Amino acid sequence: MGRLKIAFFDAKEYDRSSFEKANSDGRFDIRYYETRLTEDTCRLAEGCDVVCVFVNDDINRNVIDKLADMKVRLIALRCAGYNNVDVEYAYGKIHVVRVPAYSPYAVAEHAIALLLTSIRRIHKAYIRTKDFNFSLNGMTGFDLHGKTVGVVGTGKIGRIFIDICKGFGMHVIAYDKFPAEGSGIEYVSLDELWERSDIISLHCPLTDENRHMVNEESIAKMKKGVVLINTSRGALIDAEALVEGIKLRKVGAACLDVYEEESNVFFHDYSNHIVDDDTLARLISMPNVIVTSHQAFLTSEALSNIADTTLTNVEEYFAQGNCKNEVCYKCACVNKCPQDHSKKCF
Ligand code: NAD
Repeated sequence: MGRLKIAFFDAKEYDRSSFEKANSDGRFDIRYYETRLTEDTCRLAEGCDVVCVFVNDDINRNVIDKLADMKVRLIALRCAGYNNVDVEYAYGKIHVVRVPAYSPYAVAEHAIALLLTSIRRIHKAYIRTKDFNFSLNGMTGFDLHGKTVGVVGTGKIGRIFIDICKGFGMHVIAYDKFPAEGSGIEYVSLDELWERSDIISLHCPLTDENRHMVNEESIAKMKKGVVLINTSRGALIDAEALVEGIKLRKVGAACLDVYEEESNVFFHDYSNHIVDDDTLARLISMPNVIVTSHQAFLTSEALSNIADTTLTNVEEYFAQGNCKNEVCYKCACVNKCPQDHSKKCF
């Protein structure tokens, strides 16, 4: 077989540089496209064996049908989450692999960076001192020591976030759909977590079940002044309910690395444009909201791991017909993963 051809969508400069390094021996023919993978751009993958995609490429039914028609055999996600792929529809048609972990430290540390920036007003101080304004009015923060932090999702990232919080002397409570037995983590119900936490950080995947888990009702249960951190997926939070919660002074601050309608905005430069999304514009205009553009993963260590694992996934899949990092909707159902029985998802 000749070199495998990979159509690489939503390619940014930093992606190119890490993948070119990982592919320095030229074993893959990688074609980089700046555009995202959509029904309209699918054709760019004509003649390719693999499409390599990221968080905001929308791999819906029509895209899957078109890729399968073009005989593309593998969707290689260069991210951990796969909520943007209709994995149930893809089952039996095209295989999907992902990078389950590349640097959980990168994301957990970014969540902490957002938290400290927000509560110590570093974002304000940076702008003030640049303008030689050394006034401290309005800059009062609060100690993290002794505060209760509620962590939703205690997987790889959540656990590292917990460890860092403990270093600050915070009291940690957590909710996970599948609590880790023997971990020593104090698990509570979601309602209890909403009620008791001074700070809430989301580290669970987005599923149909937990979409908008932070909504008007859950915000109403939270402490006045609660700080919300979301570095997971935007749609875990109902953004309009968040705006209302902030306007009512119930939510004290929001630190958002992800946003439910981010796909048309994040990763692009709109500094000379009028952004159409009023909810995002309202959030960004608020002094107690910090938005970063899905940047939590972006460390050199993570980029290098993403490139290495993605190319290893492709290699493994084409050499063996299966891959340990394959995802299908059956893999998500406990004890139903076909790979366990046949070493293949289908
Ligand atoms: P992980 O699979 O190691 O952990 C996820 C945890 O969430 C697991 O313990 C799981 O049991 C739990 N969980 C599943 N469904 C849940 C639910 N409905 N309610 C509560 N808990 C639930 O994943 P991870 O590597 O820690 O990543 C967590 C999330 O972080 C990913 O799903 C992804 O969405 C997000 N992420 C964001 C970035 C970024 O750049 N912002 C980068 C990587 C990952």
